[in-house]
Amino acid sequence: MRTSYPPGSPEQIAYRVIQDCADCDCCRPILDEACLFFPELYRLYDRQTETGRTPSGEELRALVERCNFCALCPCPNIRADIIRAKTAFVARDGLPARVRWVEDVQRIGKVCGAFPRLTGRLLSPTRAGRRLKRWIGIHPERRLPEFPREHFRAWARRRGLHRKPRAAAGKRVLYFAGCTATYLFPGVARATVEVLQACGLSVFCPPLSCCGMPSFLEGDREFTLRAASKNLAVLSAAAEEGYDILCSCPTCSFMLRGLMAEGAYFAEAYQKAVGSDPRFIRVPARARAGGRAAGGMEIFDRTMFQHILKDDGYFSGLDPLRRIAVAEKTFDVGEYLLQRVGEGAGPGGFSPLRRKALYYAPCHQREQHFGRPYLDLLRRIPGLEAADLEGNLYCCGLAGVMGFKHDFHDLSITLGGRLMRRIEEIHPQEILTDCLSCRLQFAQLLPYPVRHPIEILREALPSPAAGGTGGGGQRPAG
Ligand code: SF4
Ligand code: SF4
Repeated sequence: MRTSYPPGSPEQIAYRVIQDCADCDCCRPILDEACLFFPELYRLYDRQTETGRTPSGEELRALVERCNFCALCPCPNIRADIIRAKTAFVARDGLPARVRWVEDVQRIGKVCGAFPRLTGRLLSPTRAGRRLKRWIGIHPERRLPEFPREHFRAWARRRGLHRKPRAAAGKRVLYFAGCTATYLFPGVARATVEVLQACGLSVFCPPLSCCGMPSFLEGDREFTLRAASKNLAVLSAAAEEGYDILCSCPTCSFMLRGLMAEGAYFAEAYQKAVGSDPRFIRVPARARAGGRAAGGMEIFDRTMFQHILKDDGYFSGLDPLRRIAVAEKTFDVGEYLLQRVGEGAGPGGFSPLRRKALYYAPCHQREQHFGRPYLDLLRRIPGLEAADLEGNLYCCGLAGVMGFKHDFHDLSITLGGRLMRRIEEIHPQEILTDCLSCRLQFAQLLPYPVRHPIEILREALPSPAAGGTGGGGQRPAG
């Protein structure tokens, strides 16, 4: 098929994805309901086959905007090309001002958190509220949680957690709360700190930027790299000092140890650091998609592989050694707590909680392939029945901030429909999920209470341990 898209243009990148996926065709039957991108891709392809009409530039931009990077599809190179096309569209045609506002969750949190009563009134289902939402690019039907009186950063500062704990304070961890927990659900971040402290860990909560996923998804490379670069400086310094970096949000950990680290082991700086022979490329064997080294090295002939195995991805402009240092020390909180249980230092002595809960593992948690650690932890609580929502092809549809956007709201509800129907069939007393975007979507579409599993662990902790966790058990270094 011949097209006239200029070489290297966003249209050409997007069109090449259509060709690759049409040639393969694997995702046509599998992702017909779980993804908005593939049905549209195959519609455009089928139309071209039947009528000879190639997709227009607008259709190609609208196509790539349907991908929420849920990672349900099997080919990382295709997802990378979709992001490349989105980024190239934004670089050439710009980003609408309203999207620029919505993608900056930290700024929304700061502004709205500073005037919680006024914000609450304006974001209520009144005419003024709907008008304000529309003005800032949020769909009028999108429900927002109440903005808390105190965001997590202020809470952590009051307890001195923004300063490094003393070196002698035992095992030290840096907690990366992420924007949504910091500004919209500080109870999740507080519970995380309290559970970690109850396990004898000294917690450090420095001010950090957004992990960058919302702007990455919107194609805003400048914003994403600025945030990533700031985070990398703080996180890599902490990693070098021996801190483990813990995320309660699976999207943040996916970004820090997956996307940001992609290709970093192939960089010359790393090859020099591991003393590679100039004829070979040496990279650690991978344990999982998160990029963590599994022990042992794989060796590739440089002449054969140098054009494939290279550090030329989205984050390649950032120091590869720092990206590796951060990736190798980043963990999901649930995963980390379960490891501590194995070492005899995890949370325990839980009080009974009598209820039936349904656990939903979100997309970016599943993509990291570390199992369902929260289920293992929750099942240690007497009386709590925690069932797993089985199946890997479910998506809540909110897609970070995409579901907030005026133009994407209805698609977001449609995309989440399959998962909502499944949950309604199960009819749980409570839904547990570690993704706060999923939580917002569930709260909008379902009648069940939704919580992060860490909040349940915190609730079941024996009170003396929990009670001593408001920072009292940990003295900052000053
Ligand atoms: S994403 Fe990969 S498996 Fe799916 S259709 Fe495209 S090339 Fe095939
Ligand atoms: S990452 Fe998710 S939304 Fe994007 S193409 Fe793959 S399955 Fe579809």
